[in-house]
Amino acid sequence: MTRDPSIYHLKNIRHYYGQKKVLGIDHLDIRTGSITGLMGPNGSGKSTLLKILAFALKPTEGRIFYKGREESGFSPEVRLRVTLMTQKPYLLKRTVFDNIIYGLKIRNDHQNLEERVKEALSKVGLDFQTFSQRKWHQLSGGEAQRVALAARLILKPEVLLLDEPIAGVDAKSAELIRKAALKARDDWGTTLVIAGHDLQWLYSITENQVSIFNGNLFPTGIETIITGPFDKTGDPRFVKKPANGQSLLLKAPGQNEENALIRKIRIESLDQPFTDGINRLSGHIAAMLLEKESTHVLVTALVQDLSFVLRLAPDQVGSLGLYPGKSITLGFDPEDVEWF
Ligand code: ADP
Repeated sequence: MTRDPSIYHLKNIRHYYGQKKVLGIDHLDIRTGSITGLMGPNGSGKSTLLKILAFALKPTEGRIFYKGREESGFSPEVRLRVTLMTQKPYLLKRTVFDNIIYGLKIRNDHQNLEERVKEALSKVGLDFQTFSQRKWHQLSGGEAQRVALAARLILKPEVLLLDEPIAGVDAKSAELIRKAALKARDDWGTTLVIAGHDLQWLYSITENQVSIFNGNLFPTGIETIITGPFDKTGDPRFVKKPANGQSLLLKAPGQNEENALIRKIRIESLDQPFTDGINRLSGHIAAMLLEKESTHVLVTALVQDLSFVLRLAPDQVGSLGLYPGKSITLGFDPEDVEWF
């Protein structure tokens, strides 16, 4: 019998808070032992999705399969194998030691506590002598976040879900959190799902990425999404997006569609100048990042306040002579837009 390569399979998930729909995911597969980045701006539904994956929140509609088995009752058995570190580390008003053993106590596991706390603390770069008897309020933001992570690592979870784990923490803590999460995957095969909006940090840790926007999932993690307001006063077949002196022309949306996903963005080169009818936008390269699993380069270009991410092969980067700060012209077809 072959092992199911997916630890999660989500089907037709919808979640509403009151009347407001905040999540609409037709399907999502997460491979066992993989590291998935969940990128998206604030309010896009990342925390809601992570809570659903943690079996801490039941979606309004839809089905969740965990290791091939449908989980409808959110049994304690499955909830104990999955652990979520929330965005603001929630520490009990007790010592670091008591915080770290809390999950073990719930699981009725009282063996070798001191040894295991020591090990969990060392994984996140905290010394047992110095920290174990500290109170929850005697920690910096980064230390508190690392204690929260140690409290999850001690459980050797099958799945570790991290919600914005480095938001507001110092650089040293961010690096220690990255290393500790990677070690969990390497030592125990823990599946990781990490939400955030720092593209650079997420790409330094995750193997595959999805992006989430207004509760919709997109498969590459680097989609360019343009939000309103749009100018609808011209040709009814198109709308315009003004961007400080420049204007993007986009195929008009259908009813109730308000966000535009732009596919196939290119950078103009001398060899291939853009033809008429193509949006031309002047901007500059803001950042370049090597993709971990390939040798492709993620190039972030800014056109005033609009950000476009392109995934280029190294020879394209070379032939276009790209470097951060370089002025470039971007182009895309006004028809090449998907509204949602
Ligand atoms: P993110 O983690 O990407 O910031 P969230 O999942 O926290 O996004 O939120 C998605 C949307 O759901 C937001 O519009 C947010 O205001 C709303 N929301 C989140 N939690 C609740 C809640 N408990 N009650 C009502 N609305 C909520």
